[in-house]
Amino acid sequence: AYGVPDYALSVLRALEAAGFEAWVVGGWVRDALLGAPCHDVDITTSAHWRDAERVLDSCGIAVRETGTAHGTVTAIVGGKPVEVTTYRVESSYTDHRHPDDVVFVDDVREDLKRRDFTINAMAYHPERGLLDPHGGRDDLDLGLIRAVGDPRLRFSEDALRVLRAVRFACRLGFDVEPRTQEALARCADGLEDIANERIGQELDGIVCTGAVAWALAHEMPVLGVAVPELKPLVAFDQRSPYHAYDVLEHTMRVCRAVEEFTGGNASRELRWAALMHDVAKPITFTQDETGRGHFFDHPKVGARVCELLMRRLALPHDLIIPVRSLVRLHDHVVSPTSRSMRRTLMKFDKACPGRAPRLAFDLLDLKRADAVSKVDWVAGYAIELDGIELALRRELERGATYRMGDLAVNGSDVISVTGIKPGPGVGLILQGLLSAVVNGDLPNEREELLRSLQI
Ligand code: ATP
Ligand code: MG
Repeated sequence: AYGVPDYALSVLRALEAAGFEAWVVGGWVRDALLGAPCHDVDITTSAHWRDAERVLDSCGIAVRETGTAHGTVTAIVGGKPVEVTTYRVESSYTDHRHPDDVVFVDDVREDLKRRDFTINAMAYHPERGLLDPHGGRDDLDLGLIRAVGDPRLRFSEDALRVLRAVRFACRLGFDVEPRTQEALARCADGLEDIANERIGQELDGIVCTGAVAWALAHEMPVLGVAVPELKPLVAFDQRSPYHAYDVLEHTMRVCRAVEEFTGGNASRELRWAALMHDVAKPITFTQDETGRGHFFDHPKVGARVCELLMRRLALPHDLIIPVRSLVRLHDHVVSPTSRSMRRTLMKFDKACPGRAPRLAFDLLDLKRADAVSKVDWVAGYAIELDGIELALRRELERGATYRMGDLAVNGSDVISVTGIKPGPGVGLILQGLLSAVVNGDLPNEREELLRSLQI
């Protein structure tokens, strides 16, 4: 009835034709009930994974052994993956992260009990219907994230569930049921035992929902353990005439504003940068004799802090570099001139070759979000940024020079005119020429550029 896709149905039917029991389970059931876009299909079955592999293979379905230690194989039907996992429970977690033993069981209800949240603990079968022993359907209607069973026990078995709760709450716009919430705060410390890279993945998942502001507002005890660098933002009074809010509150507003400006479609880079843009304010804070707060080069320090923490969390390099640049540049002065726009594009192109236009627009959205999240009289600057965005579009349309490759001369020209040896010096000279062109001090014309190289 929920329209299980045919490719997944063929896996389920093959297992059942061989005398095993199989259900669609987890995320697909949840999303189908929500009417949310189609999701990977997971199947849970009474068949041992070896039997599942044998049966599917004999039906001509390709199978990969993707997680046999947990009883999982992946069937590939028409290029689509379907995870098939043997009914299992996990016994006695002693270190908050590794089930000591995976035990296969023969009752699907046992398998549903080991799942994290009620909304993720439903199974569906085209004939037998919905199997929902933990009230997941009601919680979907109520908009609640509720642990299956005793929340404290469940979070102490596997502390990653703490972050998963926050991720699902953000993604679905749900609240956390009070007992589960109480356990979240209490068990968040368990995250210290979780591998950084798994924390990184969940955190990235949270940021990518576009609702990280909710997590900052409601789940700071959890985020603060996952990313200790965020903790000092809490209630940090900026003592600045430009700011009406403390750093955390301001950060929340900026995260919300970037979604507003992008219709909920902010890029992953922009979302991360919004979260991190003021991360170094507390550590660069000083006060003058009047009590007013100053921040010594906080975007520069922040870019570094942000890079280090994202590396620790094993996030991808091609995410870290642009986020670092956005944090670094978010306070730079830009104006609606060709020169200012070319300089901005040049900086991004240098850090992230080929990605400058997109990142320059992200920067303007970040600056606009930053402006509207300060005091009212600064918010007026957001309107100025509209003009700046127009200037950026115009500059790109007219094919502005901002990349080394756009220059009318190249490395061999530099070598033959100056006589210097091939090496990093050539790049430096080209960079110098590019800056001169971008600044409008030299035209991008071969003769002129070559002449400027003759001393
Ligand atoms: P999505 O993949 O869209 O984020 P999902 O529900 O499919 O959502 P997965 O991480 O793919 O989430 O996990 C599949 C199912 O496995 C979940 O729905 C849940 O039932 C179970 N599960 C996953 N991780 C855990 C965990 N740490 N503890 C308990 N159950 C889990
Ligand atoms: Mg999934």
